[in-house]
Amino acid sequence: MDSKYNPYEEILKTLERAAKKLGLEEDDYIQLQYPERELQVSVPVRMDDGSIKVFEGYRVQHSGARGPYKGGIRYHQNVDMDEIKALAVMMSLKCAVVDIPYGGGKGGVTVDATKLSAAELERLTRSFATRLYPIIGPHIDIPAPDVNTNGEVMAWFMDAYSTLSGHLTPGVVTGKPIQVGGSLGRREATGRSITLMTKEIAKKVGLELKGARVAVQGAGNVGGTAAKFLQKEGCKVVAISDVSGGIYSESGLDIEKIIDFLRTKRGRTLAEYDGSDFSRISNEELMSTEVDILIPAALENAITGEIAPNIRTKIVVEGANGPTNSEGDRILEEKGVIVVPDILANAGGVVVSYFEWIQNLQYLKWDEDEINEKLENLMVKAFNDVWNAAEKAGTSLRMGAYMVAVDRIATASKFRGMA
Ligand code: NAD
Repeated sequence: MDSKYNPYEEILKTLERAAKKLGLEEDDYIQLQYPERELQVSVPVRMDDGSIKVFEGYRVQHSGARGPYKGGIRYHQNVDMDEIKALAVMMSLKCAVVDIPYGGGKGGVTVDATKLSAAELERLTRSFATRLYPIIGPHIDIPAPDVNTNGEVMAWFMDAYSTLSGHLTPGVVTGKPIQVGGSLGRREATGRSITLMTKEIAKKVGLELKGARVAVQGAGNVGGTAAKFLQKEGCKVVAISDVSGGIYSESGLDIEKIIDFLRTKRGRTLAEYDGSDFSRISNEELMSTEVDILIPAALENAITGEIAPNIRTKIVVEGANGPTNSEGDRILEEKGVIVVPDILANAGGVVVSYFEWIQNLQYLKWDEDEINEKLENLMVKAFNDVWNAAEKAGTSLRMGAYMVAVDRIATASKFRGMA
């Protein structure tokens, strides 16, 4: 990791550049440079051995100009306030790019979730939900899953909130299991949007997806699902990795089998996956594999000034939030690599979260085809908005996406009389 890398400062710089390109006055966007609310909480947990441990938790509500705050909850040992603030800004921008009526927020707990038992994870989640209770709600701030949190965690979170509010409140979080108010298509939504955006950019640059070589960093919800869908589109996924390292096959990996193996047991990694039809590679080697499409779908800051010169791909589709830092971005641009930015590419998750929330608020159930069709329409429209903005301004797709988003948020603030 670059030594002075601060994700929050980086994102604010890009936001400011977008505002200036739009010709906005400082008064029009200055509010976006400060989160509306930052909450730090202690999260006490009774461990299985009877002792009590206290973890640090955060929730940042960045902008509520366009609607209730929306954004995931992350459990990771590196979580800190700057990371959560950056991710909260990104959520405001993401919701604006795809034009859904939400602001942006994000939360997290500094914990190595892989070291907790399922019972400890549940108690941690209930404790965190209790601490956040005063500032969240279905019309206020609606969390969702992120790194190391999933539908089960969301169900515990929703149950803790519902116990405190005295009635079942499914609309307080999204990404829940189907049986407790989750939406069909939500679990796959982020991977699906990455696939949709890959198809759109491939059309624009004339890349045939059939046989296109793909490498995916991260084999979790986002990376694993994107890899599966892209293989169904005819792509050859030659490399995939997780925290334990990666695997490579020149003729293409059996992604279906690999992902099924990883998902059958919590905490399983690729290091435990056996077989003779692949070779083992490091995450660094995966990033420098010669491919047509590279999908960083693990954590932020994966493509840095050190990694970017070695990258050999035509297209990067960002599955993770903030996988490319500004130096990495500059180098990719110089090399002529097209980057479909995170706030567009991985927005499918929040879009179907929005559909889940609508269903919860109205006690409705939509079928999966309807959800996938609505997702596709919304994503393709967002892609075209971003493409056109970038083309008009003669800039990158990332800057185009920021311009679309900043314009929408600043306009909402102006109408509301906040600016
Ligand atoms: P996840 O926990 O399901 O998977 C994360 C994956 O990354 C795992 O395979 C893990 O082993 C791997 N990983 C972790 N550290 C790594 C490292 N140092 N090197 C290589 N691999 C590493 O999480 P997810 O939900 O798939 O989220 C991944 C990224 O996508 C995050 O940046 C998240 O913010 C973003 N995102 C998630 C969603 C969603 O709907 N889940 C939506 C939008 C964006």
